[in-house]
Amino acid sequence: MNNDNEREPEYLGDGVYASFDGYHVWLRTGSHDNPEAIALEPEVWNALVRYRERVTKTADLRPSRVFCDFEDCDGEPDSTGLCETHRREFREHQAVKP
Ligand SMILES: [Zn+2]
Repeated sequence: MNNDNEREPEYLGDGVYASFDGYHVWLRTGSHDNPEAIALEPEVWNALVRYRERVTKTADLRPSRVFCDFEDCDGEPDSTGLCETHRREFREHQAVKP
């Protein structure tokens, strides 16, 4: 292992420290001297990053896509952002105007 590549453990927050030895990303909990550690090789590290992107993307997109733009309506929207009922109402409302 190349010591030149070894870096000081960095605190990520929530009791988790990360360090890098030039190949593995090491995760330790509680204290940076904690011998209980997880070594992530590059493939696993990439898989973890992809996993995070996947789960956060799903969580972020859900609220904006599922519901009709009309206040308090749970209807499923089409490309206009309104459900079928509210789209029809909106059209009828427009038709009344001169
Ligand atoms: Zn609606």
